[in-house]
Amino acid sequence: MADRDGQIWYDGKLVPWREANTHVLTHSLHYGLAVFEGVRAYKTAIGTAIFRLKEHTDRLFNSAKIYMMDVPYTKEQLMEAQREVVRVNNLESCYLRPLAFYGSEKMGVSPIGAKVHVAIAAWPWGAYLGEDGLKNGIRVKTSSFARHHVNVTMARAKVATTYANSILANLEATKDGYDEGLLLDTDGFVAEGAGENIYIVREGKVYTPELTTALDGITWRSVQHICADLGIPVEKTRLTRDDIYIADEAFFTGTAAEVTPIRELDRRVIGSGTRGPVTEKIQTAFFDIVNGRNAKYHHWLTPVK
Ligand code: PMP
Repeated sequence: MADRDGQIWYDGKLVPWREANTHVLTHSLHYGLAVFEGVRAYKTAIGTAIFRLKEHTDRLFNSAKIYMMDVPYTKEQLMEAQREVVRVNNLESCYLRPLAFYGSEKMGVSPIGAKVHVAIAAWPWGAYLGEDGLKNGIRVKTSSFARHHVNVTMARAKVATTYANSILANLEATKDGYDEGLLLDTDGFVAEGAGENIYIVREGKVYTPELTTALDGITWRSVQHICADLGIPVEKTRLTRDDIYIADEAFFTGTAAEVTPIRELDRRVIGSGTRGPVTEKIQTAFFDIVNGRNAKYHHWLTPVK
C-alpha cells in the first residue's frame, strides 16, 4: 500500500504518497488508540461524490470524543480535505481512509503529551468481499471469539483497538476457507461481522440486532431508509446464530462491503443458497442511491468538485 503514486492529506498538507511516513515510536502503533473512518466516493450521475460525508465525519469526531482525543481540525476542514484528496488524485470511484492518531512525542500508556495527527488517503477499492460475493453471496463462520463487551472498547467508536478483535474473527474464518467471520456478543447473541453489520430476512420482514455491541453503521442506517421506501418492515431485536441458520435470506452491510448477501453460515445453507429477492431489491436500491440514480437521495452525496 505504501508504494503507490498519489497524494495523501497529512496534517493539513498534501504529501506525496511514498513520503507520508510516521516514526516507529508512534504512540498509536504501540497502544492501539487511533480512530478512523472508511468512506466511499462513487462516480455518480452528478459527478464523483462522497457518500454520506457528513455522517462519516460526525462519527469520526464522536469516536475521538469517546476516547478523549482532541482532533486539531474542524469537521468542515476535514470534510473539505476528504473532497480534496479525491480531486487531487483524479479518482472517480474510491475508498477514503481518514485516520486520527497519536504521534511519537512520548511513550507510556497515557497519550497526554502526544500530538494528534490526521491523515486522509484515498485509493480505488472494488467489492470488498468480491464481485461474486455481491452477486451470489458469501460464506461466513461464527467466530469463537466474542465481540467486545460494551464496557470494553465501546462500540460507538470506530477505533483501531476494536479491529484486533475483528482480525481474530476474520483470520479464524478465512483460514478455514470462509469469506468472513461473524461475532457474537459476550451473552452469545449476534453482534456483527468483522467489518460489517448484519441483517436477516424472514417471511418478508427484515431483522437486525439492536445497536449494543455493533458499530452504528452508516450503511446499516441507510438500509433502514431504503426498506422504509420499499415498504419492507424492519425490526431491531436480539438475534441468535440459529436465527440466521433458518432465515430466508441474510446480508452484511458496510461501506467496504456495501450490501453483500450471505449464502451460508457455519455450513448451513441460508434460504436458497444465493442472493435472495429481498436482498436483491435492497442492494439494487442501495446502488441506485450511491451512484446518484435516485434524486431523492442526492443530499447523501457530496460532489468533490
Ligand atoms: N461494523 C464494523 C466492525 C465495521 O468495521 C464496519 C465498517 N465501518 C461496519 C460495521 C459498517 O459500518 P459502515 O456502514 O458505517 O461502514
